[in-house]
Amino acid sequence: MKIVLIIADGLGDRPSDSLGGLTPLQAAKKYNLNLLAGEGMVGLIDPIQPGIVPGSDTSHLNYLGYDPVKYYTGRGPFEAMGTGLQLKGGDVAFRANFATIDHDGVVVDRRAGRIRAGTSKLAKDLNMKIEDVEVLFKEGTEHRAALVLRGEGINTEVSDNDPHGENLRPKDIIATSEDGKKTARILNEFYKRSLQILKEHPLNRERRGQGLREANAILYRGGGMVPKLPDFNQRYSIKGGYVAAVALVAGICKLVGLKDFTPPGVTGSTDTDVNKKFQYAVNALKEVDFVLVNVKGTDIAGHDGNAKAKKEFIEKIDSAFESSFMKIKDEIVICFTGDHSTPVSVREHTSDPVPILLHYPGSRMDRIREFDEDSAKGGSLRLRGGDLMNVLLSSANLAEKYGA
Ligand code: ZN
Ligand code: ZN
Repeated sequence: MKIVLIIADGLGDRPSDSLGGLTPLQAAKKYNLNLLAGEGMVGLIDPIQPGIVPGSDTSHLNYLGYDPVKYYTGRGPFEAMGTGLQLKGGDVAFRANFATIDHDGVVVDRRAGRIRAGTSKLAKDLNMKIEDVEVLFKEGTEHRAALVLRGEGINTEVSDNDPHGENLRPKDIIATSEDGKKTARILNEFYKRSLQILKEHPLNRERRGQGLREANAILYRGGGMVPKLPDFNQRYSIKGGYVAAVALVAGICKLVGLKDFTPPGVTGSTDTDVNKKFQYAVNALKEVDFVLVNVKGTDIAGHDGNAKAKKEFIEKIDSAFESSFMKIKDEIVICFTGDHSTPVSVREHTSDPVPILLHYPGSRMDRIREFDEDSAKGGSLRLRGGDLMNVLLSSANLAEKYGA
């Protein structure tokens, strides 16, 4: 049996005043999700474990069966993936800033006047090769960027150059061990070359002319090595794919070896075409055994503190079920949940357990006919994220017996 895992990012919530004390999931009209709940099982899942506030990265890793305690190597590599850089296991990634330094090389603004426009042009010119090492540089939002080194003998055993304050000089880049010497040499050379490139860059000339702060230096910190993750397909002896527009989630899926089935033109926001994503996922199931689908709008609305938008996005998801997964619900395993809670009242991720729905032919039923945070408490599922793949595989009759 084939499996689809639909993750509504940040789905879980708390009672909301603007919805008369209901959560967005409770308030939403959701004919299809309720129907699946009635025919299947519901409950709550702790994406990592009780009391741990998940990131989207640690949660997705855990759901796919990659224990973040073992495989998560820090924000650097995952934020770099979030910029859309396609990273490989063994790459070393740093979080970077465009900053402004004065004539004496002292940092006067760690955020280069909160630069927004044109950073992609700056970033493009900072891609280079130093010795046998590829340097990848990609802009993120505003002044943020990712700096990635790819090559033999590269590691994280170097100091940061970010002074973490203003009126200070960027710190010297030094190796913190014998093994870090090559990385330090490459980073020092990169810093030197980047100063030259940025100084003469047309965008900075323009900014000088407009009296804006130049983005004339790169500060970086928080190096981490992209983990080498065991291949998903080999690990579970099935073929897997994904549909996800958000670069961070897509990056993780790609890193574990899932095949990309994301349709062109979809976004990672509330305006996305959920229908199209689900259609592509249904089609992907003809080729692969497992598809992870991420829709991000619920998390965006949660961070925005917009209960109405979150409720409406859930309704959009529910109606997209109609012409996609509902047509094949009696042939496949359907799991619908979130990667964490992003309550509109908090505007951030919380550790609240997330409602989960599991539907497959012949499954047990727990007589819960509504799918929301409250009804889920009376359901039969109580899971931790790290158990999810096992539960899905055994629901699909794909699990191997443990013992004789
Ligand atoms: Zn998330
Ligand atoms: Zn979020």
